[in-house]
Amino acid sequence: MTVELICVGTELLLGNIVNTNAAFLSEQCAMLGLSMYYQSVVGDNRERLREVLEAAKGRSDVIILSGGLGPTQDDLTKETAAEVTGRKLVEDGQARREIEEFMAKRGRAITENNWKQALVPEGCKVLYNPNGTAPGIIIEDEDTCIILLPGPPDELVPMFEEQVYPYLHSLQPEIICSKMVKLCGIGESAAETKILDLIERQQNPTVAPYAKIGEVHLRITAKAESEAAAYGLIGPMEEELKRRFGSLIYTDDPQVTLEMAIAGLLKEHRLTVTTAESCTGGLLAGRLINVPGISAYFKEGYITYSNEAKEKILGVAPKTLEAYGAVSAETAEEMAQGAAQAAGADLGVAVTGIAGPDGGTEEKPIGLVYISCYCRGRCHTQRNQYTGSRGKIRAYSVATALTLLRQTIIDMK
Ligand code: ATP
Ligand code: MG
Repeated sequence: MTVELICVGTELLLGNIVNTNAAFLSEQCAMLGLSMYYQSVVGDNRERLREVLEAAKGRSDVIILSGGLGPTQDDLTKETAAEVTGRKLVEDGQARREIEEFMAKRGRAITENNWKQALVPEGCKVLYNPNGTAPGIIIEDEDTCIILLPGPPDELVPMFEEQVYPYLHSLQPEIICSKMVKLCGIGESAAETKILDLIERQQNPTVAPYAKIGEVHLRITAKAESEAAAYGLIGPMEEELKRRFGSLIYTDDPQVTLEMAIAGLLKEHRLTVTTAESCTGGLLAGRLINVPGISAYFKEGYITYSNEAKEKILGVAPKTLEAYGAVSAETAEEMAQGAAQAAGADLGVAVTGIAGPDGGTEEKPIGLVYISCYCRGRCHTQRNQYTGSRGKIRAYSVATALTLLRQTIIDMK
C-alpha cells in the first residue's frame, strides 16, 4: 500500500517553522510498512492545494494531510478535501459538544468561526481531539483514503498514535520494527565487511549500516504481523551482531549517545576523568558535559591552546615541546598525564593536532591529530590523520578521543 504526505501551511514554505510533522509521519508510516513515494508542502491556497490533492489521489492509496484545520479563513484543508471528494460539509454533533467543552474548561469565549470546526465532510470518520478544537478526519473515498490531521504537533502526534496508527495498521496487517546497534572504534567499510555475508543473504530482518562521525550505527529491521513477532526476528540478528562486534558495540538503546555510555562506565568503575584540549578547544569537554550528572565524574577540563598554557597549566616540559613540537605523541602524553595530576582525576584525555586550514607542513600535515589517554601511570596514545574542513577534523578528533577513553576504561577491567 502506498501513502503520500501533504503538509499545508505558508509558514512551512517560508521556512518559519520546521516540518517536524513530516519527519514524524514518515517514520510512523515506515513502521507501518507503508511505502511513501511522495511528500509535498503547499501554502494556504485553495487552488494549489486542490491541484496537489488531485494528483495525490491519482497515485496513492492513502493521503495524509497535516495543518489547515483551524477556525480561521486561511484554514482550508477540510473544505478542499470535501470539494475534491464531492462531499458536502455537515455539522458533527459530538465535535460541536467537544468544542464547547474544550473552550468552557479553559474559560475561553467561543467565537462564530469556532463552529466551522464542527463541520465535517459527509460520511467520514471523525477523530476527536482532546488536545485542541479541530477534529481529525478520515475520508474513505472510492479507492483512496484521505486523512486530515491538525497542524500543531501536540495535537497531531497523540491523534496519530492513538487513532490513526491503529486504523492504518488494520488496513495493512504487516508492521515494520527496527532496532539500532551503535558501534564506535570501527569505520563504516570495515563494519560492513564484517557482516557482508549477513547483508548479502538478508531478507527479513535486514541490516543496514549508517556512517556517523566516528561511529557506525547498524539498523536491524523486521517485518511481521505484530510487534512481538518482529522483535522475535530481530533478536537472533542482534545476538549475531554482538558476537561479531563484541565491545565495539557501545549500546543498543536508541536514546544512548557515546558520551552517555562513557558516563555509565565511569560510574560503574568509580572513575573520574579530565580533558586537556588544544585543537578541539573544549569540544571534548562539551560532549562529556552533555550528560546530566557528569559532575560526579568530571570536575574540570583544560583548554591549553598555546605552548605556554601547556607548560603552565599541564606542566608539559619545554624541552618536549622544543624537541617534538606541540603536535606530537610526546606532548599529547604529557598533556594527558599533566591534566590528570592537575585535576586529581583517574583518567586524563588529551588532544593536540593541526585542524587547518593553515599551519600544515610536509612532516605534520593538516589533519594530523595525536590523542592520548592517561590512566594509572600509563598512556594509550593514537596518531590520527584526518581530512576535510577544520570543523570536520575537530569533530572527528572528539569522537576518536571519546572512543579511546571508552576503550581505556574497558581495558582496565
Ligand atoms: P490551528 O487550529 O492551530 O490553526 P491547524 O490545523 O489549522 O491548527 P496550522 O494553522 O496549519 O494548523 O498550523 C498551526 C501551527 O501548528 C503552526 O503555527 C505550527 O506551529 C504548527 N504546525 C503546523 N504544521 C506543522 C508541521 N508540518 N510541522 C510542525 N509544526 C507544524
Ligand atoms: Mg490554522
